[in-house]
Amino acid sequence: MRAIIRIPCVVCSRLFTTRQVKRSINAATGVCFDCYAQGVRTKSWCIGDKSEYDSESAECSMLCPDKAVCRLLIQGRIQL
Ligand SMILES: [Zn+2]
Repeated sequence: MRAIIRIPCVVCSRLFTTRQVKRSINAATGVCFDCYAQGVRTKSWCIGDKSEYDSESAECSMLCPDKAVCRLLIQGRIQL
């Protein structure tokens, strides 16, 4: 019998099974997409904010841990 491994979101601590993780958590940061959606909705940080985003800046292109998700949001390639 295989044990079910559950992985927590680093922000909200909600647990995801290994099967759910691929579509529910950003593997680079450990943050779940519900938390990203809340961040976009409440503007609690700059993620997905077109007025803040600058693809030429070091922050947005290299330093920000959420750069991949943010870029997809800005480009309209994902919706949360
Ligand atoms: Zn979360």
